[in-house]
Amino acid sequence: MTAFWTEADFDDHELVQLVRDRASGLTAIIALHSTHLGPGAGGTRFWHYPDAKDALRDALRLSRGMSYKNAMAGLPMGGGKAVILAPKNGAKTPEMLAAFGDAVGALHGRYVTAEDVGISEADMVAVAKRTEYVSGLPVDGTQSAGGDPGPFTAMGIFHGIKAAVRYKLGKDSVSGVHVAVQGTGSVGGGVARLLAREGAKLTLSDINAERVADLAGELGAKIAAPDAVMGITCDVFSPNALGAGLDEAGIARLDAPIVAGGANNQLAKAGHGKQLADRGILYAPDYVINAGGIISVTLEYLARQNGQSCDINEVRKRLAQIPGRLEEIWQQAADTGVSPDVVADRMAQKLIGR
Ligand code: NAD
Repeated sequence: MTAFWTEADFDDHELVQLVRDRASGLTAIIALHSTHLGPGAGGTRFWHYPDAKDALRDALRLSRGMSYKNAMAGLPMGGGKAVILAPKNGAKTPEMLAAFGDAVGALHGRYVTAEDVGISEADMVAVAKRTEYVSGLPVDGTQSAGGDPGPFTAMGIFHGIKAAVRYKLGKDSVSGVHVAVQGTGSVGGGVARLLAREGAKLTLSDINAERVADLAGELGAKIAAPDAVMGITCDVFSPNALGAGLDEAGIARLDAPIVAGGANNQLAKAGHGKQLADRGILYAPDYVINAGGIISVTLEYLARQNGQSCDINEVRKRLAQIPGRLEEIWQQAADTGVSPDVVADRMAQKLIGR
């Protein structure tokens, strides 16, 4: 079907809703890409967008990514995403979160939200006061999964990096493997700590100088300037900042045989996956390797809907399946000459009936 809407990233999304609440000053976009496999699930991002068009683009791209991510993770969920446009003064108020919760609730479960960049566990607790269609909420005890998805995302990426190192470099451990980690927030910081524990050699980079210095001190890692990290000679370049970092110039500068990290939408444009493959760089498709967080929040959500808590071992079991999925993609890519990002897209599209 020809898309009737001219926005470049529109991909027959089922719903794109602009939410305005004058009283609180909330401006948000909720996008549901596909609910073929279940309710659209995906986090809420709070971000300063220079232009509202950037927010729309983010919502469209990220919600499609969630359809693909949930399908490839074997979850009974479709793809959705919300973005809240930070007001000029930057403040995120309880009133805005309440109004956002009402907007999510008004979709009666077609969209289930959780944390993304700029949204904390406490923010989700505030949203959950207004609607039940929320996950990533704090849980009691260490045997229940739930809460901030960041650590689960990091664990999945760690498994994925190990799989890439095994596949490309023939090594069973990351001990002595040099990984350049771009972005040391919730996900990148977690990935770096897991890698350090297994003896990887780390170079870290973040635009937040204090954050990166603290982590480098803790892990005994080197620091690279944000504009230099992509050109570092290393074994693995791990993007864990914001998306679209892998553009033509960036890929040309890479001096690593593997790209594997958690940022969403790493490839600036379709075609950049082929550029990586042509350079002999093994790419771990972002939405496959970074599915750990959505696996956790979805299992938490489904368990809560049944009045139960989610067993953390079930989440760990699912995280451990990420390497197998990546290996299947890389093998198909090697067999067919099609780049891994396109192989993954085709698999995901088949699963969501597109
Ligand atoms: P975060 O805000 O905790 O961390 C992001 C970090 O990246 C910050 O420290 C920031 O200063 C840094 N950064 C931004 N631009 C940079 C640049 N140009 N160079 C170096 N560092 C830069 O966010 P997060 O939760 O860690 O998410 C990171 C990425 O992973 C995002 O793309 C997010 O969409 C994706 N992701 C997150 C999760 C999750 O569970 N949190 C799940 C899947 C995907």
